[in-house]
Amino acid sequence: MNYLYLYAAIIITIIVLYSRRHVKKVETDKSLLRESIQSGLAEPPSLHPIFDPALCIGSGSCTTVCPEGAIGIVNGKGVLINAAHCIGHGACLAACPFDAIKLVFGTEKRGIDIPNISVDFETNVPGIFIAGELGGMGLIRKAAEQGRQAIQSIRKRTSGAAEFDVVIIGCGPAGLSAGLSSVHHKLKYKLIEQEDSLGGAVYHYPRQKIAMTAPVVLDIIGTVKFGEVQKEKLLEFWNDVVQKTGLQISFRERMESIEKTDDGFLVRTNKGGYLARSVLLTMGRRGTPRKLDVPGEESHKVVYRLLDPEQYKGQHVLVVGGGDSALEAAIAISDQPGSTVTLSYRSAAFSRVKQKNRSLLEQGEKAGRIRVMLNSGVKEIREKDVLIEAQGEQQTLPNDVVIVCAGGLLPTPLLQKIGIRFETKFGTE
Ligand SMILES: Cc1cc2nc3c(=O)[nH]c(=O)nc-3n(C[C@H](O)[C@H](O)[C@H](O)COP(=O)(O)OP(=O)(O)OC[C@H]3O[C@@H](n4cnc5c(N)ncnc54)[C@H](O)[C@@H]3O)c2cc1C
Repeated sequence: MNYLYLYAAIIITIIVLYSRRHVKKVETDKSLLRESIQSGLAEPPSLHPIFDPALCIGSGSCTTVCPEGAIGIVNGKGVLINAAHCIGHGACLAACPFDAIKLVFGTEKRGIDIPNISVDFETNVPGIFIAGELGGMGLIRKAAEQGRQAIQSIRKRTSGAAEFDVVIIGCGPAGLSAGLSSVHHKLKYKLIEQEDSLGGAVYHYPRQKIAMTAPVVLDIIGTVKFGEVQKEKLLEFWNDVVQKTGLQISFRERMESIEKTDDGFLVRTNKGGYLARSVLLTMGRRGTPRKLDVPGEESHKVVYRLLDPEQYKGQHVLVVGGGDSALEAAIAISDQPGSTVTLSYRSAAFSRVKQKNRSLLEQGEKAGRIRVMLNSGVKEIREKDVLIEAQGEQQTLPNDVVIVCAGGLLPTPLLQKIGIRFETKFGTE
C-alpha cells in the first residue's frame, strides 16, 4: 500500500514539474514572439518553415531540433518566434511527425528575389553561373556541393581566347569549393573576395558558434566529415586546405560590374579587369557592406562588423549605425576595460531595435560607458582621430577604430543590370 502512495507521489511530482516547465516554455515563446514583432524583426531572411495549422498539433518536435532556437509553440501551434535567426536548416521539416511544415522563400510582406537557374547552375545569361546561397539554397554543405557541381558544368565550356576559364566571385563555402574544383580540373581561374578573409558568412558567425553541417566532398581533399563543428575550427580547416592546395585567392577585391564581350565577359573590380569565358557568382546574399564614403575610409582601422569585442580593450572606438548590430557592438565594447565608445547615428532616434539592446544602451549611456551622438555624421577618418558633425557643429574625437554597421547593399540590382532574371517569392517554395 505504501508503495502505491510512493508511486502516486512520484508520478504527481513528475506531472507537476513537467506542467510547470511547459507553462514556462509557452510564456517564454510568447514573449520572444512579441519582442521580435515589436522590434520589427519578425521577417525571416530567406528559406524558412511555415506551419499548417490544420495539421500541426504542437508536438514540439520542430522546436527541439531547430539548432538556432528559432521555433516555438504558441497557442498550441508551431511558429517562428525568432524569425531573424532562421537560416533554413530544414531540420524542422524532417522532424515533424504530421507533415505540417513547408519550407518557403519570403513572406506575404517581404518578397525574396531568387534568380532563375538551370540544373547546371547557369542563369538566363549564358556563361554566368550561380552557386550557394545567392541561388536561394543556404547552408554550408549545400553551398560547397553546388560550387563543386557548377565548376563541372563550367569546364564543359571551352575557354576560347579569354584570359580565364572562370572568374569566381566570393570565397564563402561555395566559392572555396569551386576554387578547389578549378584547381582540380586545371582551369585558368581567378577567385576574388571583397573581404580580407575567407569563409563568407561563417567568418562572421558569433565567436565559438557551433556550425551544424554534414559530410561534403571537396575536390582534391575528398570527403570532409564535419557534423557539428566550432566556427573557428572550420575556418582553420579551410585555411589549411588553402595552404596545402595552393589555391589562389585575391582578397580585398570586389566585383563592381560584369560586361558582355564577344567571347565571354569583362569582370571589373576595384583592382582591375579580367576577361573570362564564364563567371561563377558565389556571393551569398549578405551583399556588400554599405560604406560611409568619407575621406580616410580606406584605412585598415575601418571595419564593417564586430567580431571580437576583446580586441578593442583600451581603445577609442567609434561605432556608426542605428540598428541592432551597431547597438550590440557599442554595448559589447563598452564592457572592455579601458575602452571608450561613441555611437554615431544620422537620425534623431533608434527605431526597429530590440528592447533589450535599447535598455542596455541607455544603461551604458547613464553609466558614462557609451557616448551616443544622434543626428550626427562622420566627416573624415584620420590616423589618430575622427571628425564628426553633430547638430551643425564639428567635433574631433580621439580614435583607434571605426566600426561601420550601416547595413549592406544587396547584390540583386547589380545582377539585374547584367540581365540576370529574378523571381520574387512571397512565401512560396
Ligand atoms: C548566423 C548564421 C548562422 C548559420 N549557421 C549555419 C549552420 O550552423 N550550418 C549551416 O550549414 N549553415 C549555417 N548558416 C548558413 C551558411 O553560413 C550559409 O548558407 C553559407 O555560408 C552560404 O555560403 P555561400 O558561399 O553561398 O555564401 P557566403 O558564405 O555568404 O559567402 C559569400 C562571399 O562572397 C563575398 N562577396 C559578396 N559580394 C562580393 C563582391 N561583389 N565581390 C567579391 N566578393 C563578394 C562575401 O564577402 C562572402 O565572403 C548560418 C548563417 C548565419 C548568418
